[in-house]
This record gives sequence, C-alpha cells and structure tokens, in this order.
Amino acid sequence: METAMPRNGVDTEATKTSPSQPYDPTYDPLKSATPGEGRDYAPTYWIGTAGEPPADDGPIIQDTDADVVIIGSGFTGLTAAIFLAEEYGIKATVLEANRTSWGCSTRNGGQAQCASGRLKRSQWIQRYGLDTALKLHRECLDGMATFKALIKDIDCEPQPGGHLYVAHRDKVMPTLEKEAKLLRETFDYDVQIIDADTVKREWIGDLEAAGAMHEPEGIGIHAGKLAFGYHRKARALGVKIHPASPVQGFETHGDVHYLQTPGGVVKARAVGIATGGYTSQSLHRELKNRLLPILSNSIVTRQLTNDEVEACSLRTRQVITDTRILRHYYRLLPDNRLQIGSRSAITGRDAPQKKYETMLIGDMHRKFPALKGIDIDYSWWGWVDVSHDMMPRIHQPDAKETVYYALGYGGNGVMYSAQAGRRLAQWIAGHGHELDLPIFTSKMPFPNLREKVESQAFAPFRRFGQRFLYRWYYLKDEVI
Ligand SMILES: Cc1cc2nc3c(=O)[nH]c(=O)nc-3n(C[C@H](O)[C@H](O)[C@H](O)COP(=O)(O)OP(=O)(O)OC[C@H]3O[C@@H](n4cnc5c(N)ncnc54)[C@H](O)[C@@H]3O)c2cc1C
Repeated sequence: METAMPRNGVDTEATKTSPSQPYDPTYDPLKSATPGEGRDYAPTYWIGTAGEPPADDGPIIQDTDADVVIIGSGFTGLTAAIFLAEEYGIKATVLEANRTSWGCSTRNGGQAQCASGRLKRSQWIQRYGLDTALKLHRECLDGMATFKALIKDIDCEPQPGGHLYVAHRDKVMPTLEKEAKLLRETFDYDVQIIDADTVKREWIGDLEAAGAMHEPEGIGIHAGKLAFGYHRKARALGVKIHPASPVQGFETHGDVHYLQTPGGVVKARAVGIATGGYTSQSLHRELKNRLLPILSNSIVTRQLTNDEVEACSLRTRQVITDTRILRHYYRLLPDNRLQIGSRSAITGRDAPQKKYETMLIGDMHRKFPALKGIDIDYSWWGWVDVSHDMMPRIHQPDAKETVYYALGYGGNGVMYSAQAGRRLAQWIAGHGHELDLPIFTSKMPFPNLREKVESQAFAPFRRFGQRFLYRWYYLKDEVI
C-alpha cells in the first residue's frame, strides 16, 4: 500500500494498492478456488504501456455492509457499476481478487466487434429463428452504440473503421460470400466481400488471405487504458473498488448475501457476478461446470520500421481476424507494432511452455514472412470464458435470489461486456423482466449431456473433450 488512507470511507483518493503476490503464469480456474489475492498483472503490452493503475479503495479489511456488490473488476464489472450509478443511482461495491481488471480485460486483443458470443448470424437463425436473430443483431448494434458512448471520454487509442474478416484459404470463400449476402439482405448490415488481390494490395499483405469480408462496425482499443478509464469513471461516480479482496465463500440467508473475503465478510442485498474466464468452480452453485475456460495467447512485436510495414503491406489499422475456428486476431497497433493472438495450451500448468509462443510466432511468419526473426517484446495468455452453447448469458439464475451473472462472451467481450454490464445493471435494479432475448432469459447451459449426469461427473473430463475438439478443429481449419 502506498498510503494508509481509510478504507471504505471518504478520503480514498490517494490509495493505490500494490500487488502483494507475483503474477502466477500457471493459474487455472478449473483447479484453483480463487484467482489469488493481490496478485500482480500478467506482463502484457497493455499493462506495460497504460501507465500507473488508478487509485482504488484498498482491500476489504473489516466486515462491511454494502447494498450491491459486483464480483470482478473487468470490463463487465466496471461497466455494470457505471450503469448502476448513472442510470439507477446505485453506488455499487466492486470486489476484485487481484488488481483492477486483472483478468481478460487487460489481456485481450483489444478488438471491439459487433458480436455477442461465438456464433455467426446464420447460426443464430438456425438456433433461434429469424425474429430472434434479428433482435440479437439489434442488441449487438445497440451494444456498439453503448460502447462508443462509453469510450468517447476515455483516451484508449481507438482504431475505428470496421473489421476485416480474412478467409484463410480458398475453400472458405463460398461460405463467406453466403454469410455476407445474408448479412446484407436479411440483416441490412452493409458488409462487403473483397477479393484476394485487393485485400493484399489495399488492406493487408497476409500471405494466407484468399479474400475477406469487411464489416462496417469494429474498433481497436488499448485494453489497459480502457480498463483504467472505466475504473476512474466508476470511482468518480461513487463506486467503491476493492482490489486484493477475493470472494472465498458465498452464502445466502434470506434476503442477504454474505461474501467472505480475507479481510472480512461483505453483506449485500444483491450480487452481480462478473468473473469471466476466471470464475472458479466453487464461487457459486449456479455456475459450477457451466463455463469452459479456454486459454488464448497473444504476442506483440517490437515497433516495425516503415520498410517492414511496407514489406507486409500493412495498409489498415482496423481490427482483423481470420476464418479459422481456432482463429487468429491481429492488427497494426498505433505505435507500429504488430499484435497477433490465437489458441494456447489447454491447462494452466502447460501455458508457460515455450512451444505455444513458438507456434504463434510461426503463424505470424506464415502470414507475414518479412517478419521472420523480429523481436517479440510482449507475450502473454489469458482465460476466455466460453459457454457450452457459445452464447453469453446475462441472467438471474434463481428467481428467489438476488444474484445475477454476466458471462460467456467466448472471446468477443471487448465491446459486448459494456452492453452486458448495462444489462446486468438493469437486472440488479429490478428491470430484468424487460429483457426478452434467450441470452437474458435462460441459464448458462451445461454441455450436451443430461444436466444431472453432467453436473456430477462430466466436468473432470471436459479437457479430454477439448483436446479432441482442438484436433478436429485443426483438421477442419487446415486439412479437410
Ligand atoms: C488472450 C485474450 C484475448 C482476447 N481478445 C479479445 C478480443 O480481441 N476481442 C474481444 O471482444 N474479446 C477478447 N477477449 C475476451 C475479453 O477480454 C473479455 O470478454 C472482456 O475483457 C470481458 O471480461 P470480463 O470483465 O467479463 O472478465 P475479466 O476481465 O476476466 O474480469 C474478471 C475478474 O474477476 C476477478 N475474479 C474472479 N474470481 C473472483 C473472486 N472469487 N473474487 C473476486 N474477484 C474475482 C478476476 O480476478 C478478474 O479480474 C480476449 C480474452 C483473452 C484472454
């Protein structure tokens, strides 16, 4: 702690909680009861270049009465607290296990896309029917508007202009063209198909590109500056943010929730769970076995010279992904570094193995051979919260309890977390009944086995399934 200011009190401006534990590169949400207590950040480009973390309210050091508690201080938790204060006059208390926005929100690719979950619009139609698919699309557009309004006053180095979705091989183009037609004609969403030569000449010299689809919505942001900006905005609205305060026990008696932290019990009238891919199996009974946390890793090169930028034909700074199921996400950052990320290890224990970084560097070389041998200045990984049906949930799982969650964006949460935070605030403030999409009205599902069997026995075997799936995805992406 830099100063000994009062906690939970009035004058907390100068409190800046220092990490009390080093970063743990092997952390695994399926193995640990909490993500730690006061751990330092992962060594990401965003943390390396965001400046000092903002002032906070210090760890919880005594039993505390709170009205609304949000667990998790990532984009979801902070935006929920912002909307609770701005739209309903509720000043929430945010409990964070480690440092502010320590999880995904300071480890992502910074790509704000017009998406909610991992399914395409055509898959929405198959699953929910056309009417609901159209409503989901409107929810995403509304989410983009929410996000743009929020970042207007935050210096987070926006790179606007849209999203380039690169076909990683010829075979994908017919499907991409079909999806583009559906987006234009059914969703009135103005996407464009671009042929391979034009992609390479006018957009990006990705050697794999067999063409691309450009969509008009999409913004690259500096994830650390955005996280710190949300944090400052929340505190300016009267929100209390307590780092190094992991929730280690969660009990509900009558109308009151008792959240056990190392420094004391926090009593709350309502709780919003915003713990993303860092949700432990024991945090709350309604979440056990309902998320599949998967690792994604990311690298950032040293600054490219103008000649290197030219050699790779990096003519856009818009956000880019490719069409692999195990996709790559990449872009040229404002300071001329290339960032690229993709899948990583399956377990936390394996995550630090050099081979995963080497694989990603190999992928970058395949796309941009001119970057062979370039220094990698930053390399990190993080846990993505994937739901078993690839769609998020912002939901009250038990109508008798004032507990709500917003989770499961499946690697598409930079933008949607802002809208999910808004929806979570809506639920907590008692307006959840106004929300009528399946992502608001249904629970985070178990995998496709009978719930009972699943909740008892399947979870320990999920990772066998994941290994099998990764092999299958590889075959689908690269071979078949
Ligand atoms: C490597 C990587 C790349 C990604 N790239 C993109 C991208 O380019 N575009 C995109 O849209 N999305 C991306 N994502 C996903 C995106 O980062 C998240 O969806 C988004 O940041 C929202 O996160 P969140 O707030 O829900 O959760 P998080 O940011 O993970 O925050 C959850 C917080 O909860 C805390 N917590 C957990 N348990 C407890 C407890 N018991 N007590 C107290 N606190 C607790 C954790 O410490 C953590 O800080 C990526 C994710 C990763 C890991």
